[in-house]
Order: sequence, then structure tokens, then C-alpha cells
Amino acid sequence: MQTTLTDSVEEAARILNSGGIVAFPTETVYGLGAGISHPEAIRQLFRAKGRPMDNPLIVHLYSTQQLAAVAAEVNQAAKILIERFFPGPLTLVLKKNPAVPYSVTAGLDTVGVRCPQNPVAREFLRLCDSPVAAPSANLSGLPSSTNWEAVYEDLDGKIGCLLRGKPSAIGLESTIVDCSGAKPVLLRAGAITLEQLQAVVPEITANAATNEQEPPKSPGLKYPHYTPKASVVLWDGKEESRIENSSSAYIGLSSPPEGVAQLKVCLNLEEYGRELFRFFRQCDAEGISIIYCELPSSRGLGRAISDRLMRAAGIS
Ligand code: AMP
Ligand code: MG
Repeated sequence: MQTTLTDSVEEAARILNSGGIVAFPTETVYGLGAGISHPEAIRQLFRAKGRPMDNPLIVHLYSTQQLAAVAAEVNQAAKILIERFFPGPLTLVLKKNPAVPYSVTAGLDTVGVRCPQNPVAREFLRLCDSPVAAPSANLSGLPSSTNWEAVYEDLDGKIGCLLRGKPSAIGLESTIVDCSGAKPVLLRAGAITLEQLQAVVPEITANAATNEQEPPKSPGLKYPHYTPKASVVLWDGKEESRIENSSSAYIGLSSPPEGVAQLKVCLNLEEYGRELFRFFRQCDAEGISIIYCELPSSRGLGRAISDRLMRAAGIS
């Protein structure tokens, strides 16, 4: 398949509206979209990514006016979160409207819904005939794509179109809150922090450790994620101050260990989040074999970064 590279939202929307799959920029990471009314495009999207069919897709809206078309019920907690954080890097899991096909929700009666803030994403979504189901635009299991070049590397020749935009401003996937049950639960940490969520809906809790006996609440969380080819080793700055490995790298906030070949010292958590996946991909391109990553504290944005690092290191 020929992948059209374009800067035109009109051209990208035309391709999606005629049943194509289109990668597009958002503030979290690049998304890979298919119209929810195009079942063949949805199937193709799972194939292009190599995504397991039981991992549901998040439905993207340009405006909260489209909410009624995808959700059957919006409870009080969801209303407050929408009012405060939409458009933005927050996905809500809600009871689904029957119009949303089960191929999008992987058979669940709930649907993940997000309204991105990135102006290119919003304009693209506005021109699409239906809401757009979109997982991250990377091969399944690899780090999410935070710039168009990474999408191209993974998906050229497998998708209809790549809408080029700027690098993602946040660089980490959306925060996910499940509002479909009696109590809202944080399923995935992201740039909207647990503290910010609890400031408006105090009863939100973080997802308890998954019980092996029960299916995971967010099916995608059981799969390996965010893993570069290099081994990811969590680094607390204590045990090793000198690394004797010429193909090692470091990313974090503190002073790095000596002797690493690639280095990214971030000024703050925002930069750490924005740079993490790009750095993983750069290390792979340069043949790095070990990436030492400083594990931040789990407060604020540190929770989302720690979550990605632990998964990349194969710890959770
Ligand atoms: P990605 O779009 O690649 O960031 O992955 C989307 C994430 O959202 C996965 O972890 C999914 O399991 C999760 N997700 C999407 N829809 C639902 C849903 N209805 N219920 C729970 N989790 C969901
Ligand atoms: Mg993903």
C-alpha cells in the first residue's frame, strides 16, 4: 500500500472518509485513526499495528457535541471531568452507545472517549464524517510515536495516510479514567495527574493491582508496552556511578552515571515525559543495548513516567 504523506487536514480527512486509515498528530502521542462507521478500516487498523483484537480503541471526537453519538450514559463524575478537562489529554471510559461497533470496543459494553486539544487533530476530526477510533500510531508493543518520523518508521506502506504535524507536546498517552462503574477509577496515568483529577472528583482512586482471577479493567494494560529493543534498567543513582558499557545510555533528571554513550538530562518532569519515547527510539537507531532510566517519584506527572518506565523494564 502506498502511504500518502501530507500536511493537509483536508486530504487526510478525505482519505479517512473513503475508508482509509490515517495517522495524525495529537498532544499526547500520534494516533492511528479509522472512522467508526468503516468496519473494514477498523480491521485493517488492528492488522497494520499488529494489535491484539481484544485491546479496545479510544474513540476521538472533535467536540463534546458528538458525545451522545458514542456514549449511552454520562454520569455526574464524567460530567465534571468533561467540563474541566475536555478538550485535553484525558480519556473517559463510559457505557457505550449501541452505534459504536464491538470491533472498536473489543466486545466491551463500554467505550473510551477522548477529545484532543491539538489544533491539527481538532481540525482533522472536524472534517471526518464520523468519530474516529484511534490507538497510538506505532507497531504494537513498541514505544508510542511522538513525531511523524517515528510513525513513518513503523507504518510506512501499511496505512493510507500520514498527516504530518509537530512533535507531540506531552509525549505520553492520555490519562484514562473509568467512569462506567459506581466509583471512578484511574486506569492509566497521564499528563492529567491523579491529584488534578481528585481536586474536582475526590472519590477517584488509582487502579488496584490487577487480580489474576479477574479480567483486567483496561485490556491493553496486560500487554507488553513501550519497549525499545534495548534493555531498560531503572536507575536510582546509588549503586552504579560509572557504567562500563560503551553501548549504554541514560535518561533522567539527575546527574548521569559516567561512561554512557548517549545522554539526556531533563530539566523537569514535563521534558522527561516529552522526550522519553523519542529517546528510546533514538537509542534503538544507534544500536544502544542498555538504557538506564531514572525512576521519578510517583507524584504528579512522575506517576505516568514511572508507569511507562516500569512497563518498559518488564516490571509491571
Ligand atoms: P492506546 O490507544 O494504544 O494508547 O491504547 C488505548 C488504551 O485504552 C488501552 O490500554 C485500552 O485497553 C484502553 N481502553 C480503550 N477502551 C477501553 C475501555 N472501553 N475500557 C477500558 N480500557 C479501554
Ligand atoms: Mg498504544
